Amino acid sequence: MECISVFDMLKIGVGPSSSHTLGPWRAAERWIKELKENNRFDKVEKITVDLYGSLSLTGKGHATDYAVMLGLSGADPEYIPVDIIDVIIADIKTNNSLAFNNEKAIAFNYKTDIIFNRKFLPYHSNGMTFTATINGRNYKSTYYSIGGGFVVQEERKISKANKIIFYCTFPYPTQKGDDLLKFCNDLKLPISGVVLENEKSIREVASIDLELKRIWNTMLECMYTGCHTEGNLPGGLNVRRRAYDIHKNLIGDSTYESPQQWLETIRKTEVKFRQILKWVSCFALAVNEVNASLGRVVTAPTNGSAGVIPAVLMYYMVIENHEADFEHIKKFLLVSGEIGSIFKKGATISAAMGGCQAEIGVSSAMAAGALCELLGGTPEQVLVAAEIAMEHHLGLTCDPIGGLVQIPCIERNSMGAIKAINAAELALDTDPKNVKVPLDKVVNTMWETAKDMNTKYKETSEGGLAVGVNLSDC
Ligand code: SF4
Repeated sequence: MECISVFDMLKIGVGPSSSHTLGPWRAAERWIKELKENNRFDKVEKITVDLYGSLSLTGKGHATDYAVMLGLSGADPEYIPVDIIDVIIADIKTNNSLAFNNEKAIAFNYKTDIIFNRKFLPYHSNGMTFTATINGRNYKSTYYSIGGGFVVQEERKISKANKIIFYCTFPYPTQKGDDLLKFCNDLKLPISGVVLENEKSIREVASIDLELKRIWNTMLECMYTGCHTEGNLPGGLNVRRRAYDIHKNLIGDSTYESPQQWLETIRKTEVKFRQILKWVSCFALAVNEVNASLGRVVTAPTNGSAGVIPAVLMYYMVIENHEADFEHIKKFLLVSGEIGSIFKKGATISAAMGGCQAEIGVSSAMAAGALCELLGGTPEQVLVAAEIAMEHHLGLTCDPIGGLVQIPCIERNSMGAIKAINAAELALDTDPKNVKVPLDKVVNTMWETAKDMNTKYKETSEGGLAVGVNLSDC
């Protein structure tokens, strides 16, 4: 059984894509570590990177080439100041040279040393092979970016059933929703309580709190940045940022000087009924506009769907409960992380494997369950909320126009957030005994649907809106 921490599901990184940006970035870091462990790093004369399948087909739009170069340069996606990304890339392009792990200069032509191959590798659609040349001999390592920034190496033990073998050391290991409910009943704890017990087995409580605060602050800053940045998004589609205008109309002449003051200002603002959806949409759009411009976001569970969880948590804080504090934020993040992990274990969180149901569908289910617990739902109702949110995303395809994480991705986050709120409300009025489709069934159905889905709807930009819209009109 896989042991997935909430900090594996909610990771701080850089946009626009967790599988196509964060994953390849992390893979490059791991390859450098591997070279060092084998005493090869210092001897490397040349490096090339082959991208395969979906990584190749949408890699340009998803900035996979940038991610690989940044990873090879030793930059950390969690901490790199986002404004120096362009400087590093421009330097590599201009000088045809890369500061390998920021330790030694090595010749690198970004046009020829990153190779986009249309073919798919066998294990996963997002494959990449790093090659180091030493004394005329090539040393190759293949990695797969399996969604949400998770990376596995090809050599890792894979069973006959093509499943990776994991070992879990949590005291309350969960594979499915039913396992979680059993532990809630046995321990007389809400879902957030069981998840916290598991986290406490690997970290000090102070460290859990610190990291969750850092995640929340990153989400808040991301929403703040998105709501205060105008203009068009990069990439060539000329997509206008909308969070700026929507926010301006909603906030009026209010003044504040920091994200925290901004939050408090919104909490004091009288919100009319018809403005509630606008606020939620605005928060979600803001995050994904920042994501589309290679800004700092929290992968939740992916970058393309990073806006849903912050938007629903903000909804709770500015509409439902003006007294909400860190304890509420903590519960929300713990529950959402756990629900995301159930989808990762039972299905997928990779659009290259399951289409957009695996991204927006999962993020909506995570947010719905988390909101339901904060609104007083029982553990059973929390899982009902997650189930409802996913049930109405089943079959959702991934078809980003131009391979960019912009259309339909950005708007789709506002839809996912609003469905999550509705799912939580429906679950609160539902007796779980009467539910016909439990969460575990919908997880399984999502996976079966993913397997049936045509490859062109799995983050390849070869179907749907990606081919239905003429780019010259954009
Ligand atoms: S369509 Fe959905 S899954 Fe595909 S890139 Fe956009 S947000 Fe991600």
